[in-house]
Amino acid sequence: MTKFQGIGVSPGIAIGPVYRLPDLHQKIPDHRLPPEEVEAELQRLDRALEETERELEKIRVQAAKNLGSAAAEIFNVHLLLLKDRGLKARLVRQVKEGWNAAYAVTQVLHDYLDSFQRIDNSFLKDRRGDLEDVGKRLVRNLLGLKIQLSDIREKVILVGYNLSPSETASLSKKDVVAFVTEVGGPTSHTAIMARSLEIPAVVGLKGIDQLFRSGAMMIVDGQAGVVILDPDERLVREYTRMRSNLREASQALESLRGKTATTRDGHRVCLGANIEMPTEDVSVLSHGADEIGLFRTEFLYLNRDDLPDEEEQFRAYRRVVEKLRPMSVTIRTLDLGGDKFSSALGMPEEVNPFLGWRAIRFCLARPDIFRVQLRAILRASAHGKVRMMYPLISDLEEVKAARAILEEVKEGLRREGRPFDEKMPVGAMIEVPSAALAAGAIARRVDFFSLGTNDLIQYSLAVDRVNERTAHLYNPFHPSVLMLIDHVVKAARAAGIGVGLCGEMAADPATAFLLIGLGLDHLSMAPLAIPQVKQVIRLTNYREARRFARRILAMESAEQIAGEVRDNHERLLARESKGRPKKKTRSDDQT
Ligand code: PEP
Ligand code: MG
Repeated sequence: MTKFQGIGVSPGIAIGPVYRLPDLHQKIPDHRLPPEEVEAELQRLDRALEETERELEKIRVQAAKNLGSAAAEIFNVHLLLLKDRGLKARLVRQVKEGWNAAYAVTQVLHDYLDSFQRIDNSFLKDRRGDLEDVGKRLVRNLLGLKIQLSDIREKVILVGYNLSPSETASLSKKDVVAFVTEVGGPTSHTAIMARSLEIPAVVGLKGIDQLFRSGAMMIVDGQAGVVILDPDERLVREYTRMRSNLREASQALESLRGKTATTRDGHRVCLGANIEMPTEDVSVLSHGADEIGLFRTEFLYLNRDDLPDEEEQFRAYRRVVEKLRPMSVTIRTLDLGGDKFSSALGMPEEVNPFLGWRAIRFCLARPDIFRVQLRAILRASAHGKVRMMYPLISDLEEVKAARAILEEVKEGLRREGRPFDEKMPVGAMIEVPSAALAAGAIARRVDFFSLGTNDLIQYSLAVDRVNERTAHLYNPFHPSVLMLIDHVVKAARAAGIGVGLCGEMAADPATAFLLIGLGLDHLSMAPLAIPQVKQVIRLTNYREARRFARRILAMESAEQIAGEVRDNHERLLARESKGRPKKKTRSDDQT
């Protein structure tokens, strides 16, 4: 029995057999072949070269169609490198000398990269990354390393080096009871997907690929970040009991479903749900949300080779809006890039994808794709209460440019006589420090703000949100993060527009007291987090929370703030469990 400590990113307890994902980072075998196997290895090499060429051809065509000739040129270069006769001759020579083909690729590649580096030619130096990409693709095809998540048909715990957000989106709760990976952080989109699917998950477990074999029994505690391999019977019993206690506790909180999130002194907070799939309405309703505070639309674009057209998007948005009517649904326009990539778009690999061609930047550069989504969202607005917001605004000009495209699209719909809500509110996500600091100017051009603290924290602290090595530096309680939130709330107030927060920070019940105190009236989170946050709000006194926030804003250390927030939370719960005589509240009257 072995116990490991990682980062718990999606709560819940799971017990089951391990299913190991193919290891794409494993060491390339360096064994030599007996002479009788050389011919077969040469044929394998040929097949892998052909398969790689087919893949690159397909991506090149898609890139040309969706991104234009400049992007397609990248894959032309890849194809040229792959088809280089000198490269093939060298690979064949290595295999004839008895090296296995995958090892031959790494050796030949190493020599090429070395010579590219030494030649004083900036064009060749720039091609190093392309050559590496081609080599990796070839090795993957030689080793048959393709993840087939759709093949999984039993209740397993997935273990692997990494899962991308799109792979996570394709998991079925029926078959996968938890997952454990080596890389990732709590606000990565992989973790966000796990929470929305309500699948327990632990990330940041160093070296797990070497440690776990398929079929071994495992316990995963997604809250504590604990993973236990080969547990004894006593532990299995203990965790089975904990699992049923957790279920009972969450069922007890379900009694809050029909109640409002209103403080003891009558201040109403609106609790929203963040959703990633149009089919999540059941979980939104069962956990008692007041609205959809964030509908992440990019998942409609992942796990497919083409782009969703206007009709498909319109049906998806209308489905959510109609099912949840009269709730308000805030649809966020496409936020691709960062850690979410669409294979249909063949988006180029970037050195710093979170600082690169992402979200509104991508949409403004591709108005053809953006317009299709805007039309679909506007058309859905005729079927219920829709709000729309732009992600990753970093400059006022982006708001103006997006608005100009929106006006054109509206004009087109009017000409066609298609109905839409002329007054659909349009907001900006504030998740880049430049936008937070310039919030005053932006507030005068939009109808509402939504603070995306997952990104705001990563950009203001310069800490990659998906890197487990820097996860300890990713701190929502850093004074500068709280100062930015405070500044944005004040700017919104001054302009008379609404402001909410939809980052993962909103889902922490201990932080709710502080956020309310900072003046946030709309908090949006994974549906499963809503009952606990609602419970805290119903124990809170708004005036106390305001005073608490002012005290916190004067503090200089994140550690001290985190300590105060936890202590305050414990006091709040203790006060409740001591059974202080409860005053009749306005919230009870309203529910
Ligand atoms: C955020 O950044 O806080 C946010 C809600 O958006 P996402 O997590 O999708 O980047
Ligand atoms: Mg964001």
